[in-house]
Amino acid sequence: MPEPTIMEKIVSLCKRRGFIFEGSEIYGGLKGTWDYGPLGVELLRNIKNAWWHDNVTAREDIVGVDTSILMHRTVWQASGHESNFTDPLVDCKTCKLRFCADQIEESQCGKKPSKKPGQHDECQLTEARKFNLMFKTFVGPVEEDAQMVYLRPETAQGIFVNFKNVCDSTRIKLPFGIAQIGKSFRNEITPKQFIFRSREFEQMEIEFFCHPNTSREWYEKWRDARFEWYRKLGIKSDKLRLREHAQDELSHYSQGTSDIEYLFPWGWGELEGIAHRGDYDLRQHQQFSGKDLSYFDDEKKERFIPHVIEPSAGATRSLLAFLCEAFEEQKIVDEDSKKEDVRTVLHFHPRLAPVKAAVFPLVRKDGMPERAMAIYKDLQRNWPVFYDEKGAVGRRYRRQDEAGTPFCITVDGQTATDNTVTIRDRDSMQQQRVSCDKIHTYLFERLNS
Ligand code: ATP
Repeated sequence: MPEPTIMEKIVSLCKRRGFIFEGSEIYGGLKGTWDYGPLGVELLRNIKNAWWHDNVTAREDIVGVDTSILMHRTVWQASGHESNFTDPLVDCKTCKLRFCADQIEESQCGKKPSKKPGQHDECQLTEARKFNLMFKTFVGPVEEDAQMVYLRPETAQGIFVNFKNVCDSTRIKLPFGIAQIGKSFRNEITPKQFIFRSREFEQMEIEFFCHPNTSREWYEKWRDARFEWYRKLGIKSDKLRLREHAQDELSHYSQGTSDIEYLFPWGWGELEGIAHRGDYDLRQHQQFSGKDLSYFDDEKKERFIPHVIEPSAGATRSLLAFLCEAFEEQKIVDEDSKKEDVRTVLHFHPRLAPVKAAVFPLVRKDGMPERAMAIYKDLQRNWPVFYDEKGAVGRRYRRQDEAGTPFCITVDGQTATDNTVTIRDRDSMQQQRVSCDKIHTYLFERLNS
């Protein structure tokens, strides 16, 4: 059997430890859909919470919204999605398989031996035709064209259509941003690379509105700030890069677009796009809705349509990048057997780790479980923590390493005499004796760094 690839190891760890499962798995799965298990849901929530905190709560110039997934069909006509949100689709007349023409190089034909689509002599690919990626559904009981709506393919339009509502209901002044986190849906022709390209996924988007004269400056600020955000949360390696689009890649209204990309095990992939969108979106919605979406600056007595900078990130795609970056297999000497072994560890940043600390009694006797349980209950008031008393302590450490838990607190024989515990650091595996009444401070300082 060939050694599994890094990606296969990550996918298998995700299933084994309850991060991510295949959607509808017991029915054979539904391609492009994924379910987040007990550890995965915490990790995803921590990523979204970190983003919300750093971009909304900790700033004075951004407010949040949570808008509907189903929107009026005209929204997508105004935004251009109904006519332009397409991928070039090619069919193989022999295999009946379908591929995205832009991704032929990375795709595989279903026939054996494995080759790229069109490379088997008998395979015949059709000319590319436009395939709209929006999912359709119907509102109300009658399935007719007039009742047809789309599941949103991005959260951004929910922000634009509420621009006026937010201006009218808050005292916020330009420059300011509106942020939203939510589900988006795209009927991707070939969902692939685990959760990287899914048909249902989550986005974290900001529309930052500003005066046209300052928009270039704001674009550069956002581009740099968003890049730093991933670094701060643990993607420190040279696997993160900022790729500025060339002039010929830009849409007609854009004065600049940059992608933040991560080097996944299969190659570079986009985590977030930061786009200078000019006044395109507000102008389009103003035209299609007939509502005035201009902004009036009281001080300068000036009316204009703001420009917008859009940092648009994938929450689930970032999760995959954080997972890939955190994953490591280390050769170590096993704590119990003293033999050479491989330790699988997820080096998550403490803010992202699903469980912040695990509490163990060294053995299940001499009052250790009672003391450990009391510490666990106390910590649980502040953090997601985990209690485990089953099996050898070395194995318990290793289970926590695999879950990415930064600290393991162990009550042992010495605890009864001097009221101290050991705290083991996930990354260095070093243990330190800490007085029971200092555990809180110890964790607080390290988890909030
Ligand atoms: P791609 O070129 O990879 O299809 P895109 O340029 O169409 O992505 P955007 O429309 O800019 O993506 O969406 C913003 C972000 O939403 C992306 O950077 C990505 O993180 C996330 N995203 C987009 N499509 C998907 C998908 N099918 N599955 C998971 N995340 C996605």
